[in-house]
Amino acid sequence: STFPGLGLDPLITAHLEGKMNIHKPTSIQRAALPAIFDPENLERDVFLQAQTGSGKTLAFLLPILQDLLPLCSHSYIDRSIGTLAVILAPTRELATQTADVLGKLLALRLRGKDEAPDDEDAARRTRWLVSGLLTGGATRGHEKARLRKGVPILVATPGRLLDHLQNTESFNVGKCRWLVLDEADRLMELGFEDTIRGILQGLDGRRRLALQAVKEGQSVDVGGWDWERGRRTVLCSATMREDVQKLAGTTLVNPIMIKA
Ligand code: AMP
Repeated sequence: STFPGLGLDPLITAHLEGKMNIHKPTSIQRAALPAIFDPENLERDVFLQAQTGSGKTLAFLLPILQDLLPLCSHSYIDRSIGTLAVILAPTRELATQTADVLGKLLALRLRGKDEAPDDEDAARRTRWLVSGLLTGGATRGHEKARLRKGVPILVATPGRLLDHLQNTESFNVGKCRWLVLDEADRLMELGFEDTIRGILQGLDGRRRLALQAVKEGQSVDVGGWDWERGRRTVLCSATMREDVQKLAGTTLVNPIMIKA
């Protein structure tokens, strides 16, 4: 089977094959992509049971990218739209690895200069779609400055993300529509349960404020893009351990269960 056969946009498939040398989906990707794209499942959360090395990272990054791509058809969208997807990783090391894969994937927005004129337009329209890493590796002030500019796809460790949700006014995350809890079993082992709960509260609070701003006509028009659709949460875990099931029970709504 192939990526287009799984419902992936041709722009993304061409980039995977041409620039990342990825041609055949892994078994977790074959299971996850059609289930996540299924229109019947659009409102459902996702439980992804997968080991490291299975290709799980692309299994959640590709649907996120595909979901955000239609926004690029609006020339007036820029980074000020804020954070649309948050990927939570247990350690700085894992967050950095995930951000690397994401960076390669988002390099599709750089296509253009030496390619067809069509692609130059695509490159210009997708320029705002950047990623950022928030792990406490930089100073808080530096991170705040990046968040103020806008980081559409954010990879973060839990403590630093909660810190910014609570203390950084200009962290525009009210339109966030994807939250990934990567390696949830490790998140639990490292004692992040309460921090994750705090993050969910923080995201929900900011979302209420954003919805209010739209009602009052203060928000940018996003051309019919249905950003008011609820957030989708994706939980990734190698195991179905009891503590992970408990976390799933309190963070996921009607989840699709996906196993390679
Ligand atoms: P992960 O399980 O997400 O940590 O991915 C493990 C490695 O497999 C990463 O280096 C990916 O770039 C690579 N990878 C992911 N999907 C594929 C694929 N469909 N074909 C070949 N390599 C892949």
